[in-house]
Amino acid sequence: MRPLIIAANWKMHTTPADAGELARTIASRTREPAVVRVICPPYVSLAVVRDALAGEGIEVGAQNVHHELAGAYTGEVSAPMLVGLASWVIIGHSERRRDAGETDELIGRKLGRALEARLRPILCVGEQLAEREAGRADEVVSRQLAGALAGHDPEALEQGGLVVAYEPVWAIGTGRNARGADAARMAETVRAALAGLGWPAATAGAVPVLYGGSVTSANIGEFLAEPSIDGALVGGASLKPDEMAGIVARAAVIARARLEAGR
Ligand code: PEP
Repeated sequence: MRPLIIAANWKMHTTPADAGELARTIASRTREPAVVRVICPPYVSLAVVRDALAGEGIEVGAQNVHHELAGAYTGEVSAPMLVGLASWVIIGHSERRRDAGETDELIGRKLGRALEARLRPILCVGEQLAEREAGRADEVVSRQLAGALAGHDPEALEQGGLVVAYEPVWAIGTGRNARGADAARMAETVRAALAGLGWPAATAGAVPVLYGGSVTSANIGEFLAEPSIDGALVGGASLKPDEMAGIVARAAVIARARLEAGR
């Protein structure tokens, strides 16, 4: 059975002075062991959030990692530097593809660094609006996966806890979310793409696929009603304790129902 995961991407919000308090508040409002909860604050707040969440059962993630282990890369952070601070890492977020020019090949190298450091990767994929309107969403997402996963051993990725987040770019931070049924179809596209890369069916089927893009407490139910969707990567709403409480509460109901149904 795949776990239900709610991952919070705080993006470039909060400071070390206020991140601990926000993390503690969210923790106190989301005590649902049936749901895997992850908070990804900015690098500079990883330590304070880790300390604030001690004993809470919420895991900490970074929002990015460099593709090299060390070297002359001013301002960058490598996977070994994150060990002890984070146990998850977001890789290939569309904002980094857009702002830092990250390519699928580079994202694939980051995946390798994450696995070596035992950081659980959340690999983000998703199409632009024009690509969706041209009927190319499946092709784009399959190509992103093929590019990022090339050369990686499927078993190693599964053992490393690979999670894929399907995040249509037009839905991120726009308030315009995908429909649950469309997101579910794309989750199936993700697993079909893995199978198309030669992954054994059981391995492809074990990879959790999250939806991301303007998720709120009001629309999370539509996504989690789809059995192929295993949770959400939440941006803007993850900074609001009331929203996180609602999202995780809904996820917990679904997680218990899936457990009872054995799927
Ligand atoms: C994200 O940051 O990955 C995201 C989906 O953001 P938002 O929920 O704000 O659209």
